[in-house]
Amino acid sequence: MQTISMLIGGQAVHAATTFPVINPASGEIFARAPAGDASHVDAAVKAAQAAFPAWSAKPDAERKALMHALGAALEAHMPELMRLVTLETGKPQGGLNGVGAGMEVGGSIAWTHVTADLELPVEVIQDNAEARVEVHRKPLGVVGSITPWNWPLMIAIWHVIPALRAGNTVVLKPSEMTPVATARFAELANAILPPGVLNFITGAAGSNVGPVMTGHPGIAKIVFTGSTATGKRIMANASCNLKRLTLELGGNDAGIVLPDVDVKAIAPKLFGVSFHNNGQTCACLKRLYVHESIYDELCGELANLARNAVVGDGMNPETQLGPIQNVMQLAKVEELAADARAHGARFLCGGQRKAGPGYFYEPTIVADIADGVRLVDEEPFGPILPVIKYSDIDEVIARANNSPNGLGGSVWSSDPAKAAALALRLECGTAWVNEHGAIQPDAPFGGVKQSGIGVEFGQHGLAEYTSIQTLKIMKS
Ligand code: NAD
Repeated sequence: MQTISMLIGGQAVHAATTFPVINPASGEIFARAPAGDASHVDAAVKAAQAAFPAWSAKPDAERKALMHALGAALEAHMPELMRLVTLETGKPQGGLNGVGAGMEVGGSIAWTHVTADLELPVEVIQDNAEARVEVHRKPLGVVGSITPWNWPLMIAIWHVIPALRAGNTVVLKPSEMTPVATARFAELANAILPPGVLNFITGAAGSNVGPVMTGHPGIAKIVFTGSTATGKRIMANASCNLKRLTLELGGNDAGIVLPDVDVKAIAPKLFGVSFHNNGQTCACLKRLYVHESIYDELCGELANLARNAVVGDGMNPETQLGPIQNVMQLAKVEELAADARAHGARFLCGGQRKAGPGYFYEPTIVADIADGVRLVDEEPFGPILPVIKYSDIDEVIARANNSPNGLGGSVWSSDPAKAAALALRLECGTAWVNEHGAIQPDAPFGGVKQSGIGVEFGQHGLAEYTSIQTLKIMKS
């Protein structure tokens, strides 16, 4: 069985004990990872601090070239990384609408190259006879990255590449449930980067590795993707040295379908954006509001699609939806389903765990359900979609906005201009028209309200890994 290593200052590091990594398609252990502790956090931060002066002083063009080299290394190891992603997350190699391990690794490559090409030019605010005023972007120092289990490799790339591109050094900690593909990325990166520029540490479930990182005085910024509850703990802990924070947290995205849509044409698209990766994507559509005039027809179409989706082991090329990634998340989905049933909701299909090994749950469409029931109000993060009837557009926008979360939202209509005007009324970081959850490496993405702080991607995202220094040069 494979045992991964930590990587500190360019050296492979093991811990006194290891913890298991489970393949959710079988429920069996397929790898082990080092149970790091506070001493490993400390050593990784010291290595990153030691590497910072030379890395941040490197000419910009050299850092850019090294980021492109990382992209090329990912590409050269694509099949291997895809296999590791499927084994640890359960997501299919291909997946529903092509959203699977191939997209995770392919997206990682694309994001790396696009981010490598971003620039942070000096901004000139004033240049006249009296003075020249310039705004410079400077790296922060050591960035700590903490990632979740749903898109482990891609989210590590989203954190690490802009941090390095801007001249920071990094300590990267994956979720204890999915450290394996990220460990391989860290190895590949360490064959390219100077020692200490990217350090990789792991901690077992419930260990203090994450909290020690977020409270460490040697870390200048934490970039975190995960649940809102953990994000709040991190924010409290990070106050010790006023760490900079980017927090990408939970979402409970609403989609609103107007009565003018072609139901048959949009149903597969709505199904895809709600169920890809088994609903385990922060910006999946998680609450679907449908106008009463088309409610029954759309519910029927969605239920047919759910019944026919191919659920199975992600290594099987036919599979569209894999297992839920872990047994706790499966239990949460079961709990929300039971609560919805108790509140009289109508299950059009699915509604239970699949027999056999692994953490499989049937794709589930739930109708005749309203706001106030947990399945609507809480993020299920699994293959279950509540479909909620509405009659009045102003009222449904208020219902969509009546959430502590504000990651994404969408409006579906055959009149894109009308839909865009409504989408702008949604309280969320990204609003889509006739689409949901689609992101790209050059457009900012982030949450409002309790879905997060700050943005990732593009120029705006890169700037978050810097501080501003204003330089005023007097001329007279
Ligand atoms: P989680 O919050 O349980 O864990 C995320 C990471 O935080 C893991 O690495 C974990 O080890 C670490 N961690 C746990 N407690 C910590 C602490 N006290 N201090 C520091 N680190 C700690 O989240 P998860 O269950 O892995 O991920 C699912 C959640 O992530 C969902 O809510 C989902 O919506 C959200 N998510 C958001 C985005 C986004 O971009 N907004 C993307 C993906 C996932």
